[in-house]
Amino acid sequence: MTNPKQNQINTYDAVVIGAGFSGLYMLHLLREAGFTTRVYEKGNGVGGAWYWSRYPGARCDSESIYYNFVFSEELYKEWSWSSRYPEQPEILRYLNFVADRLDLRRDIQFNTEVRSAHYDESINKWHIQLHDGTSISAKYLITGLGCLSVNATNVPNFKGLDQFEGKWYHTGAWPHEKVDLRGKRVGVIGTGSSGIQTIPVIAQEAAHLTVFQRTPQYSLPAGNHPYTTEFIQRTKDNFKEIARQMHESMGGQPGLASDRSALEDTPEQRQKVYEAAWEKGGAAMMFAYNDLLTNEEANETAANFIRSKIGEIVKDPSIAEKLMPTYHFATKRIVMDTNYFETYNRENVTLVDVKNAPIVEITPKGIRTTEEEYELDIIVFATGYDGMTGPLLKIDIRGKEGVSLKEKWDNGAQVNTYLGLATSGFPNMFMVTGPESPSVLGNVPVAIQQHVEWISDCINYLRENEIETMEANVEAEQNWSKHCSELADSTLYTKTDSWYTGANIPGKPRGFLIYLGGYAPYNQMIKDIAKNNYNGFTLTPHKGEIYLN
Ligand code: NAP
Repeated sequence: MTNPKQNQINTYDAVVIGAGFSGLYMLHLLREAGFTTRVYEKGNGVGGAWYWSRYPGARCDSESIYYNFVFSEELYKEWSWSSRYPEQPEILRYLNFVADRLDLRRDIQFNTEVRSAHYDESINKWHIQLHDGTSISAKYLITGLGCLSVNATNVPNFKGLDQFEGKWYHTGAWPHEKVDLRGKRVGVIGTGSSGIQTIPVIAQEAAHLTVFQRTPQYSLPAGNHPYTTEFIQRTKDNFKEIARQMHESMGGQPGLASDRSALEDTPEQRQKVYEAAWEKGGAAMMFAYNDLLTNEEANETAANFIRSKIGEIVKDPSIAEKLMPTYHFATKRIVMDTNYFETYNRENVTLVDVKNAPIVEITPKGIRTTEEEYELDIIVFATGYDGMTGPLLKIDIRGKEGVSLKEKWDNGAQVNTYLGLATSGFPNMFMVTGPESPSVLGNVPVAIQQHVEWISDCINYLRENEIETMEANVEAEQNWSKHCSELADSTLYTKTDSWYTGANIPGKPRGFLIYLGGYAPYNQMIKDIAKNNYNGFTLTPHKGEIYLN
């Protein structure tokens, strides 16, 4: 039987994929500017990652007063955060508040997956195919998929998972109803941000928790605390200054940068600086000195400090040793926790080092490593995502001459973008926080706002100047990619295997797809490019003349 929706064609000025921070703001700006805009969202509600990541203990690792939109003073002042690092339900409530307040839902289609987006050069339009067969066409295609998305969760291909008699869940696609852990033997695989947030909470409820750790982490105390009404009022009174500082900082959160090298201080001075940063909590430790990510010796001073803290917190020295990381501090995404290391002092928690004794298979009863079988009722995969390119490459996106993004990027081996916003061969397509933009190395909602505003200004410019298509130039993107790699290679980031480098996904080509030059300089650069009539892009007016920039 043919699906009646299959022949239905709708045309919009812009189609946006995803209704997280990116999609919501993109919709708002384009609609305000008078563009017909439709957002497609796989979930049954707004929120993106915050809609899906409902695992116990999920919370933000940017301070809440900066983890929001600052394009509207009114909006900012109408919302009050409860604490420094709020839990997932509160962030989801915030995004629902934004959607309601800006009346966004009427242009969002929920429960809808975009399967493909193909560019038709004969009419300069994108044809977008939805999971139910519906076809949509749009002049502009904007991806607001996030760098880590539910469509790119990583569940390692362990033998026997299908035979497991218990239940299993991925942290990034957690059930919406409460998972009852009482009396259960729970296994958590993975000790990244998700694992480290969920482990202390699961340990309090489960009968027994077994943590399968491959790489120990430099987790820092979050230093979470409730906000007082007076504090929240002060942030509202200082809205303009807060918004300015967010946009003008290197990572979207003001007040963190140091201008000193760790090696300028004596060991005693460093100890004091690190103690203060540890006490302050959050990301302070990462920014205690300005060379922790570029100088191995400096980095080692911070790494040593954290290892000594782990030794102090964890009572059993053999467990403490297993928990001590050896890679360069902060070259994997920094993790913040609440009572993570303390959790290993509990009697109902076992730590299994799967680097030494790897997981061999999932059995009907649990997990077998090369040394032992662990019987479990529930397995939690806190095993991360195919980040950066994964969310984009999961959709069949084809540009000019039918070339797919997958082919163009050689399945991830040759990712080229211009500014992380666009890629040649894909006219009128824009990526919010795309590969090779500053994206995840900071407080992401700020990176999102900078991109969304740039894209919206750009689309307005195209309309005002009667430009039909806009496309990144090959040379501009090659130079940009080279610049991104050179910057990455001048740091310690590329010396560590992580999801930043693609090393977490077996067979995924390596590459560091995040621009390391900082949010504020990047934002200035893309604004200058816009002012300069979008140099590095080819703009083709309606009449067919071509402006090469
Ligand atoms: P992740 O950082 O990639 O961590 C995945 C964990 O799973 C790692 O410990 C990894 O070990 C382990 N793992 C993967 N495959 C494995 C295998 N086959 N066998 C054993 N262990 C395996 O993923 P995540 O914790 O979901 O975090 C991803 C990112 O999401 C974060 O870096 C952060 O940007 C974001 N996030 C943010 C928040 C927040 O804002 N608070 C919360 C959650 C997530 P290896 O290290 O050895 O690869």
